[in-house]
Amino acid sequence: FGSDPGIAFKLTPPSSSGIPGGMVAQENKTPRDFFFVKTIGEGAFSTVYLAKEVTTSNEYAIKVISKELIQRQNKNNADVYSATHVIREKNIMASLTYSHGGHPFVVSLYCTFQDPERLYFAMSYCKRGELLTTLQQVGAFDMPTTRFYAAEILSGLLFLHKCNVVHRDLKPENILFQDTGHIAISDFGSAKMMDEMNKEDPIIRPSASFDSEDENFRYGEKITKRRSTFVGTAQYVSPEMLTGVGVGPACDFWAFGAIIYQMLSGQPPFRAVNDFHMMKKIQTLDYSFPEGFPEEPKDLVAKMLVLEPCDRLGSPDKGDAEGIMGHSFFEEIAWDCLPELEPPTLH
Ligand code: ATP
Repeated sequence: FGSDPGIAFKLTPPSSSGIPGGMVAQENKTPRDFFFVKTIGEGAFSTVYLAKEVTTSNEYAIKVISKELIQRQNKNNADVYSATHVIREKNIMASLTYSHGGHPFVVSLYCTFQDPERLYFAMSYCKRGELLTTLQQVGAFDMPTTRFYAAEILSGLLFLHKCNVVHRDLKPENILFQDTGHIAISDFGSAKMMDEMNKEDPIIRPSASFDSEDENFRYGEKITKRRSTFVGTAQYVSPEMLTGVGVGPACDFWAFGAIIYQMLSGQPPFRAVNDFHMMKKIQTLDYSFPEGFPEEPKDLVAKMLVLEPCDRLGSPDKGDAEGIMGHSFFEEIAWDCLPELEPPTLH
């Protein structure tokens, strides 16, 4: 990178149509255009700040990525989060927001900019934090609450898939609550365009140590020193992500099934003492429903936690998106009205 980053880290000016909330692509912003109020999250390679735009007082979540960290990844030929990933994340977010008009349940991109040391993504700010934190606070959701948030997650997910984007890292940490109480899918650091799938650089790269019970084993070598998100990530990973064969949109449906399970029971379906055992459990579909788990969502989850992606509900052979939306669990959902509905109160 250096002073000339050698990469196009600037939004391509979009057509002005379809930008959410009248949003227009912002060019030539600098860090001085924002007050950085506080840190709201730390990822493996970035820090996310709450920032206020000086001229408007609008609040944004700004993800700040150190060029040095990225450069180090490049040098090590690390397949974790290199310049390619940063550019891809930016392009995917820009495409979702500007080319496809954004979606009420997907975090949107306001602008990107850089200085000699850092890259910046200014995004819509989700004030009420992560689904994971809320779930940990309340234990589990009741059926109507689960149904409502599951419908919003699915709605956002189907938008991504319609835009040819597979998220590949859907998990309760990446589902955020907006100030309105509606959800927003975030973190496109692992996302990929469908036409790029199964080409180079699978995010999950089972290494030689995959066969090891070594406690230090890390799948995909996604080692984070700053915040250990590893276990959380692996719990929602689909069997095909572990082998790297046949990865497509259905991997998001697997994670979606696991999230519904967790919203209702308070626990993810696959749990183990270490990563090795957890991955074995995923690959052998070794999970069970706790007693009292309601029948309708049980049927839905069981149809999504299916080893073969093409046999998973939501896949072309299994009714596409309509296969999930038409499931009896979602019978009462008015899909088109979701953004206008009052979200359930969380206790
Ligand atoms: P990881 O690699 O660990 O999955 P990451 O490096 O991709 O994470 P993000 O998930 O983008 O980093 O952000 C880290 C944290 O910052 C999130 O878990 C979330 O708590 C917070 N965060 C990210 N985006 C937003 C947002 N738009 N609004 C509010 N908080 C956010």
